[in-house]
Amino acid sequence: MEHVIEELARIVQAVSKSPSQARQVSIIVESISRFMAVDVCSLYIADDNSTMQLIASHGLDRAAIGKVGLPAGVGLVGQVTKSGRPVNIGDAKSHPAYFYVAETHEEYFKSFCGVPLLRAGEVIGVLTVQSRQQRKLDEKEEAFLVTLAAQLVLLATSQTIPLILGNIVNTRITGSKASPGVAIGQVNICDSGGLFSVVDAACDNVEEAVTEWHRILDLVRNEIELERQLFGDKVSDNTLGIFGAYEMLLSDQSLVEGVESLIRQGNWLPGAVRQTIQNNANIFLAMEDPYLRARHEDIIHLGNKLYIAWKGTNVQQRYDGEAIILAGQQVSVSDIARVPAGKLVGIVCFEGSSYSHTSILANALGIPAVMDTGDIMAMHNGDTLIIDGYQGQVILQPDKSVAAEFLALVKQDRELDEQLMKLAGEPAVTTDGQVVQLLTNTGLLADISPGVRYGAEGVGLYRSEIPFMVNENFPTEDQQVSVYRQVLQAYQGKPVYMRTLDVGGDKQLPYFPLHNEDNPALGWRGIRFGLDNEAILLTQIQAMMRANEGIGNLHIMLPMVSARHELDQFHVLVNRVFSQLQSAGSECSLPPVGITLEVPAAISQLPFWKDKIDFISIGSNDLSQYLLAVDRNNARVSGYFTNTSPAVLSEIRRTIEICRELDIPVSLCGEMASDPVAVVILVGMGLHSLSMSASKLLRIKWLIRSISFERARELAEKALTLDNPAAIRQLIEEELKAMKLDQIIV
Ligand code: PEP
Ligand code: MG
Repeated sequence: MEHVIEELARIVQAVSKSPSQARQVSIIVESISRFMAVDVCSLYIADDNSTMQLIASHGLDRAAIGKVGLPAGVGLVGQVTKSGRPVNIGDAKSHPAYFYVAETHEEYFKSFCGVPLLRAGEVIGVLTVQSRQQRKLDEKEEAFLVTLAAQLVLLATSQTIPLILGNIVNTRITGSKASPGVAIGQVNICDSGGLFSVVDAACDNVEEAVTEWHRILDLVRNEIELERQLFGDKVSDNTLGIFGAYEMLLSDQSLVEGVESLIRQGNWLPGAVRQTIQNNANIFLAMEDPYLRARHEDIIHLGNKLYIAWKGTNVQQRYDGEAIILAGQQVSVSDIARVPAGKLVGIVCFEGSSYSHTSILANALGIPAVMDTGDIMAMHNGDTLIIDGYQGQVILQPDKSVAAEFLALVKQDRELDEQLMKLAGEPAVTTDGQVVQLLTNTGLLADISPGVRYGAEGVGLYRSEIPFMVNENFPTEDQQVSVYRQVLQAYQGKPVYMRTLDVGGDKQLPYFPLHNEDNPALGWRGIRFGLDNEAILLTQIQAMMRANEGIGNLHIMLPMVSARHELDQFHVLVNRVFSQLQSAGSECSLPPVGITLEVPAAISQLPFWKDKIDFISIGSNDLSQYLLAVDRNNARVSGYFTNTSPAVLSEIRRTIEICRELDIPVSLCGEMASDPVAVVILVGMGLHSLSMSASKLLRIKWLIRSISFERARELAEKALTLDNPAAIRQLIEEELKAMKLDQIIV
């Protein structure tokens, strides 16, 4: 077996070109048989009952595929599962575990080697090869199989069995709950490319690849022209300039000839594109000038466009349907912003966690979302899809009866919302008279009006980074004034807490590359980034204060404060802007300044900061992330991230007590404020101001108006004596059920 690495690369290349999972697994089994010169290669995947289903085979009777299932532990496959190690024997029939399956007609084959597909220590499948000859595989061959099995773990799981076998009608795929609600709509795939995961591989046919390269260049050129037309009347000329820049980059000889020359040197097309794009991007990345440096993002974006065109997944998003579901590896904030108002009904991300900003935005917009479903290759543009945000599931190609069932649920949800509308003008007050202030979180202009409609008493968190994230360039001061003014005006007479730009970590600006950091969440983010980019921060403060002229409800909130000097520095800047505006004749006022309490170290420093902060809003998302040492975007550890962690709850209680002693107003604006279970505890702990997505306001108000403060206090006290999140949740959920509030349990 020569050239193992090249063969692996070739298989990866062939698999990545193939659009369906069914085809991908069959390419793998065929390639293995041919390369290893064995008669059979098969793939078994464990279904939900731990039965090993034969889902692909080269060499066994085709009729057996999808029909044969080996119960747990049965046969040589069962032996691999039990031991979690390869079973490699020359004479299979002589092995005590041998089990003959008539449908496969495997009686002709003597040798057997099976290797496990391991995920988190569990055997989720078995890859086997068999030969007519009585020949045990050598070490190198066994290692090759083990390597491929590791690749297959990503591709084939129990959830993908129906996809691979091709019967996907009504297939349910479970991910994680990101935003509640149920929706039915048409899929629009967002493909962000993934160019940088392309490996180098040998080019089979140089001339064909060069011709293909020029075809792709033309394709992307046409696509860009189409986009220019599509956006023509929606964005400024300044923004349209980006399309001209892309066209120039596409015609640049260093790209066109660079790729061609790498192909001629023997790299396959995607490898040549990745290498050339990487080289060109690095040149820009090394530049001093921040504007030019930011162009490296454009080059990478273009590279991904070229790669998407090569894969053939570049279907122009037209948003034809009335109900659009965005789906993809990742669905970005700008993907969401691009869907015409009112058409977006759901979001599915193959990766990512429920605490990502895509989820937060989905919650803000009241759109059901499911994250971390794993790659769903069988999903195509235009397919009908159901999203069940309550269960964290999606249902592919629902048939009529399933669709009808879900349409009834959608109707029920809508009816509850309609019924609750009567509470919009009512106060959120407990049955024994404790008033709770309910504010809303916003960021997109699109979510301002729902908050007003549902009776929000102000904006508890305006995430100013969102308008920055959906723009193609830094918004100018005037553009910012106009956006901020719309928000302040919409809530005239009510407080608006505008947070300064909170970028870094998982919030990236497409046009301002932040340095790669080993621990971005612990790095250059929030106010740290702001103070180091004084010009950006000064412009923002000035825009906020100008927007507030004549309205007067602005409060400025600082993200990620962890040290006293940050507050001192910020006050110097605010005062500077204030005097400059005043000397220019403005009638602006100095707004109250406070912090989002997100860094645990802030809690014990509050007494030292008292003279510098007018209010506090607890950012429970980041506070939990830092207290629990759990990356809020990492789906693998998302199980640790809960709204009922005893540690987080007791730190919040400590914060409330310190604020009471220091007489600092305190609110909470993280996702906990939208979770009815957490709300009971928070209110019971004495927190009487909450800020949440507009879509949750009325449900939370209903809850508060249904419970007494006294009962909430008792429950909070009891909850704080429990040592695990599940027990705390169960305690409160039982109470909510007893109060007939089941419908709002998320
Ligand atoms: C938080 O961390 O709780 C918060 C509200 O800020 P963001 O989610 O925008 O980081
Ligand atoms: Mg935060």
